[in-house]
Amino acid sequence: MTYDAIVLGLGGMGSAAAYHLAARGARVLGLEQFPLVHRRGSSHGHTRIIRTAYYEHPDYVPLVRRSFALWHELEQRSGRPLLTPCPCLSIGSAGSDLIAGVKRAASEHGLVVEELDHRGIVERYPQFVPDESHVGVLEHAAGFLRVEECVHAHLAAAAECGAELHAEAPVVGVKQDSDSVEVTTTKGVYSAARLVVTAGAWATRLLADIGVPLTVMRQVQLWFTPAPVSLQFRPKRFPIFMLESDLGAFYGLPAVEKFGLKCARHYGAPELPGPENVSWDVTVADEVPVREFLRRHLPTADGPRIQDSVCMYTLSPDRHFVIDRHPYHPRVSVACGFSGHGFKFSPVVGEILADLALTGTTKHPIGLFRANRFSS
Ligand SMILES: Cc1cc2nc3c(=O)[nH]c(=O)nc-3n(C[C@H](O)[C@H](O)[C@H](O)COP(=O)(O)OP(=O)(O)OC[C@H]3O[C@@H](n4cnc5c(N)ncnc54)[C@H](O)[C@@H]3O)c2cc1C
Repeated sequence: MTYDAIVLGLGGMGSAAAYHLAARGARVLGLEQFPLVHRRGSSHGHTRIIRTAYYEHPDYVPLVRRSFALWHELEQRSGRPLLTPCPCLSIGSAGSDLIAGVKRAASEHGLVVEELDHRGIVERYPQFVPDESHVGVLEHAAGFLRVEECVHAHLAAAAECGAELHAEAPVVGVKQDSDSVEVTTTKGVYSAARLVVTAGAWATRLLADIGVPLTVMRQVQLWFTPAPVSLQFRPKRFPIFMLESDLGAFYGLPAVEKFGLKCARHYGAPELPGPENVSWDVTVADEVPVREFLRRHLPTADGPRIQDSVCMYTLSPDRHFVIDRHPYHPRVSVACGFSGHGFKFSPVVGEILADLALTGTTKHPIGLFRANRFSS
């Protein structure tokens, strides 16, 4: 059988692409090297932040707004809770990339945010010990996604729309001629009119020819039982946060269900050539920067570690995404280099990839994500 589209990689982005393609009536084959919804990529670890006042660049704001709408639709369709609203507090010095960026995105897009001075932060959230120079920006158009549930929901919706999904089917070869793309896995050979590559950290190898020097960063997610165990880190009392200080950039999410407060460093680890260089064991050394952060800025959260999980960022040089048609293979579209902040956008990325595969273009603003932006 010839498919309209093959999706290579069924993590956060590929599961969404498979759904949006199948929902438009395309015959879709999704291929995943591991079991579906696994812990060896970038889309696991219980929760992901979604926020609107996007400090990384204001051009993400329309995309995150569309994502909120699509997450709500998926939630209704699946009948399972995926997105929980929760305010997001950014803390840093007034001139930091974080604070200046959040304010810029808010002012360009008319977003409602509350500015807090040092005293305002500790009055509202006494759990924090900010530096004297710190200010805060609080936004309410934010929340957290249950990451594994989201991937499950996209895959289930794709299958309901007729997509065929093959787990434990690593792609080992891709060939393209003028009318189709031929994809070989360890189990078979398949042909399709279009190929969508959503390979996460494996894009470092699979897309080595797109002209984007991608690297991989090992990132450890840690959960702590606040000591003394109390309600002070539950969502109603405690926000999602991002905090930039001389210790680096850190983020955290409130204690949800049986999980404790989640806290991790953003970036700050060595850049590696590919996923094969990542160690999946968590060591005491992995806790050191996060403990130092907690002791300084969130001292009552500095309790025992109750859980940990290694995850990978796939970095582009400017930390913006790569979403485009393949520069040399017109039948192939790519989405990679999500640089540690992509998950919240999965549904809109799925929609964009379906547009690119089925029509060659999209109405969504993706100029920032062109694959050729690094070539001189
Ligand atoms: C610790 C951590 C915290 C994060 N926090 C946030 C956050 O709060 N908010 C946010 O928006 N984003 C966050 N991110 C980023 C976000 O999770 C990622 O950008 C997103 O999950 C990437 O999805 P993906 O589909 O590109 O990769 P993945 O989900 O890894 O999917 C790629 C898939 O391709 C498969 N594959 C690869 N090669 C092959 C092959 N040859 N054959 C078949 N299958 C193949 C892989 O097995 C994998 O399943 C975080 C990431 C990490 C690691």
